[in-house]
This record gives sequence, C-alpha cells and structure tokens, in this order.
Amino acid sequence: MSISVEIGDLTQVEADAIVNAANSTLLGGGGVDGAIHAAAGPRLLEACRRLRNTTHRGGLDVGDAVATPAFDLPASWVIHTVGPNLHRGQDDPALLASCFARSLDVAAELDARSVAFPAVSAGAYGWPVPDVARIAVTTCRGWLAEHPDGSPQEVRFVVVDERIRDAFEDAIGMA
Ligand code: ADP
Repeated sequence: MSISVEIGDLTQVEADAIVNAANSTLLGGGGVDGAIHAAAGPRLLEACRRLRNTTHRGGLDVGDAVATPAFDLPASWVIHTVGPNLHRGQDDPALLASCFARSLDVAAELDARSVAFPAVSAGAYGWPVPDVARIAVTTCRGWLAEHPDGSPQEVRFVVVDERIRDAFEDAIGMA
C-alpha cells in the first residue's frame, strides 16, 4: 500500500481511476472539473447527463462519489465527488473525509488498483490547504488500513504547486 504526492496535471495521470472535484450538478464546472471534462471529451458530459437522468436525478450529494468511464483520458475511470464548499458554510471535516472514503469505496467496486486525487475543496470551495491535506491523508491511510487486501492499493495526490505538495508531504509524514 502506498500514499504519495506529486506535482502534476491530473488529466495526464495514468492511474486506474482519477477523482474529479465535481459539483453536485455533475455537469461540469471550473478548476480541475473543467480540465477533466475538456481532456476527456464530450462523452464524459454525456455520461454525467445519463447519471442525472437515471440514478442521480437530484445531483450528487456533498461527500458522495460516483464513477463514469474516463473516455479520452489515460485513466480508465473518473470518480466524481463533491467536496464541501466553505463559502456556503460547509465546514464539517466529516464531509470532506467522506469524499475521500467514498471515492475509495467506489474505486474498490471498480477493482481500480491505483487512484489519483486532486486537493478536493482546496480551490474554489475555499478550504485551507493544510486542512485538506491532513483530512485527505488521514482518511485514505485509514481506509487502506481497513482494506489490506484487494484494490485500491495505491493512492496518489496530484497537486498543482509546491505549496500544496509540501502540505501533503507534511501530512504524510505526520499521519
Ligand atoms: P473545489 O471546487 O473542490 O475547490 P477546484 O477544482 O477549484 O475544486 O480546486 C481543487 C484543486 O485542484 C485546487 O488545488 C486546484 O488548483 C487543483 N487543480 C486544478 N486543475 C488541476 C489539474 N489539472 N490537476 C490537478 N489539480 C488541479
């Protein structure tokens, strides 16, 4: 089992699954969500629309996760999760922890061996990077410890700059 952090572009990552910091509409947005939709091609939006017309008519709840194929991306799957939005008063760490745990649950259902996460909620949704790093690392480490057999075995955090990388390195070192 491994947990690591690197600077990079999630849309270029060759993991079995990448996680999208989506919004509850599942119909695309800015930040990493926009980058993933742009790189995956229009079939990703079609797949998300299908979810909205079938299993997720009311959208995706904060803290929940759901998968689609990754289409034109190097990954096989995109796992969409909705982080809590601090600007809307969503300040419960359990909601953010749930994003990581539910994403790993979905990855396990897909038998995805490696999962790459962005810093969910650390962008437009306004959570402080050190809090996101600590919650992400603690939750993923706990999940992996509870699921020693099977998939996923590898968690990668793929972040945009040194500041975020350092926060995740600190969290990995402390946890
Ligand atoms: P949220 O709305 O959950 O805060 P954002 O997409 O606004 O989501 O930001 C989450 C994090 O993802 C931010 O640190 C942002 O800089 C980062 N990010 C944006 N584009 C990419 C990308 N292509 N690869 C990895 N991380 C990205």
